[in-house]
Amino acid sequence: MGRAFVYVILGGGVAAGYAAHEFVKRGVEHGELCIISEEPVAPYERPALSKGYLLPEDPARLPAFHCCVGTNEERLTPKWYKEHGIELVLGTRVKSADVRRKTLLTATGETITYKILLVATGARALKLEEFGVKGSDAESVCYLRDLADANRLVNVMQSSSGGNAVVIGGGYIGMECAASLVINKINVTMVFPEAHCMARLFTPKIASYYEEYYQAKGVKFVKGTVLTSFDFDSNQKITAVNLRDGTRLPADMVIVGIGIRPNTSLFEGQLTLEKGGIKVNGRMQSSNSSVYAVGDVATFPVKISSETRRLEHVDSARKSARHAVAAIMEPEKTTDFDYLPFFYSRVFALSWQFYGDSTGDVIHFGDFLGNSFGAYWVNNGHVVGSFLEGGTKVEYEAIAKITRLKPEIEDLTDLETQGLGFALTL
Ligand code: FAD
Ligand code: NDP
Repeated sequence: MGRAFVYVILGGGVAAGYAAHEFVKRGVEHGELCIISEEPVAPYERPALSKGYLLPEDPARLPAFHCCVGTNEERLTPKWYKEHGIELVLGTRVKSADVRRKTLLTATGETITYKILLVATGARALKLEEFGVKGSDAESVCYLRDLADANRLVNVMQSSSGGNAVVIGGGYIGMECAASLVINKINVTMVFPEAHCMARLFTPKIASYYEEYYQAKGVKFVKGTVLTSFDFDSNQKITAVNLRDGTRLPADMVIVGIGIRPNTSLFEGQLTLEKGGIKVNGRMQSSNSSVYAVGDVATFPVKISSETRRLEHVDSARKSARHAVAAIMEPEKTTDFDYLPFFYSRVFALSWQFYGDSTGDVIHFGDFLGNSFGAYWVNNGHVVGSFLEGGTKVEYEAIAKITRLKPEIEDLTDLETQGLGFALTL
């Protein structure tokens, strides 16, 4: 049993949705394109799962956040795929790939053949078991990567109202979920191994602003340690978590956000991998010219910092997907991807954006006791990264522009004095 397509997108997440939109914009014919996804629903904006989806009142639910509403473009419902002659093969895992024969074998036993393959398999959440901790399959332990996880989390939150949650990990999932738990009237303690939250991006000064804000909302922080085991009652329900430093924290529920691993296993030994992802060139093309990779799973050349990077953010997924489709459909008109890394988050009434690279000296600016502040990263005498909390649209555009321009900085003190004004006047 088998079907053949000109283009196959493997994976049905953010990158898949934006790639499908781009294929249609560039005139793909009916019957040429197929999307195969393990998830049972059409591509959606994954960031909604840790934000609107977890709200106690008027929460976001599908079909409201199918791609491409995240960029204020049309919403691609299952009907849209049908109308454009795109085959959606949902709830179907691909269990093996053969890039030499150009075939994919699904868990249902079907062989799907392609001429061009776009790999958009994203990533999976790391499990506590991978750090030697047992018990994370317990009912009240939640991870958050897909819709099924989000539904489970909502149920566990509802049954833990007024109780205690322990959030493991001080990264994106930890920070966004902790905020949602507070809004759901659950007492939160965050546990992570680093000295401060968001350790890979935030400076200690930036982190302390967010930690103080969270503390004012009742969140407690236990830093510099990790979870070692769970305590269970006679019904196998978790009652507490034990930490390496000897602390025991009562817990009605636990959320784990300790990072991800890209889903590359189908292609190991077949495609070149680098930095944990599938290595691609500036056209998002892998070491096999018929296979492209985009989104969280792709390691691509970031021109502005002259290095290859694998980014785990939605803007990169959207833009890399569109770029790959342009390179596939109009190769002669498509130059190399020139991407400015962009990360953001929104929690409580806060909202920040970051552009570029967080390397070199850091120059903070603005009012760290107020609502708006930021930082520049200066490396080898040039601005390479910018961060801003509480900015306006114009201000965010200004820091993005300055990061792309990489202006030379002669005097760091002068940059500090000018602060945001430096970006606004350049
Ligand atoms: P995904 O969106 O993860 O899609 C991968 C798809 O591939 C899934 O549908 C999966 O089921 C499918 N798949 C994998 N293997 C197979 C297989 N073998 N067979 C069939 N299907 C397969 N980024 C931001 O910049 N801002 C945010 O605010 C933000 N919030 C986030 C909130 C949450 C809860 C999460 C989990 C992530 C968030 N991100 C955010 C990150 C962002 O969502 C990802 O970078 C983005 O989804 C990556 O897109 P992708 O298409 O590469 O992967
Ligand atoms: P992150 O990589 O952001 O953070 C993981 C955190 O967990 C780090 O602080 C990490 O520390 C810590 N950690 C690692 N191991 C342990 C351990 N054994 N015990 C306790 N803490 C540990 O990953 P997340 O899981 O938070 O997010 C998953 C993905 O979702 C990421 O790709 C992220 O980009 C994406 N996401 C993005 C959002 C956004 O952009 N706004 C929002 C939500 C999710 P260390 O740094 O030392 O490894």
